[in-house]
Amino acid sequence: MGVVYRAECKNCGYSKRLFAGGGRNDCMPQKIGRELSEEKQALLKEMISNGAKRVIINRIICACKDCGEIYALPIVSYTLDGEKHEIIGDCPKCSSENAEAVENNVPCPICKAEITLTQDGLWD
Ligand SMILES: [Zn+2]
Ligand SMILES: [Zn+2]
Repeated sequence: MGVVYRAECKNCGYSKRLFAGGGRNDCMPQKIGRELSEEKQALLKEMISNGAKRVIINRIICACKDCGEIYALPIVSYTLDGEKHEIIGDCPKCSSENAEAVENNVPCPICKAEITLTQDGLWD
């Protein structure tokens, strides 16, 4: 079960719902990775056909260090040949991999005022 967060800027009215954690469909390998770029989806498929096991996805709330976008960053982890690996998603706006996990004190991507991040229920 995942947690829904609402990021809101009281200054400019920016508001976005973010889906953190994992959901029910996340244990189906064919559904995992839709949030990744095509390249990374292809990599994940290759790893699964190479025998990757325990493929799970988690999402954490991040801010992009390049464009300031706030988003739920998907992190796919799997075990292959006894070693744990991770494939980390990119910024949906600028495709940067330069993200920083945030809890609060996030600047608004539009006006740079402080965003309030509140829990807004559960999903799945
Ligand atoms: Zn704002
Ligand atoms: Zn970005």
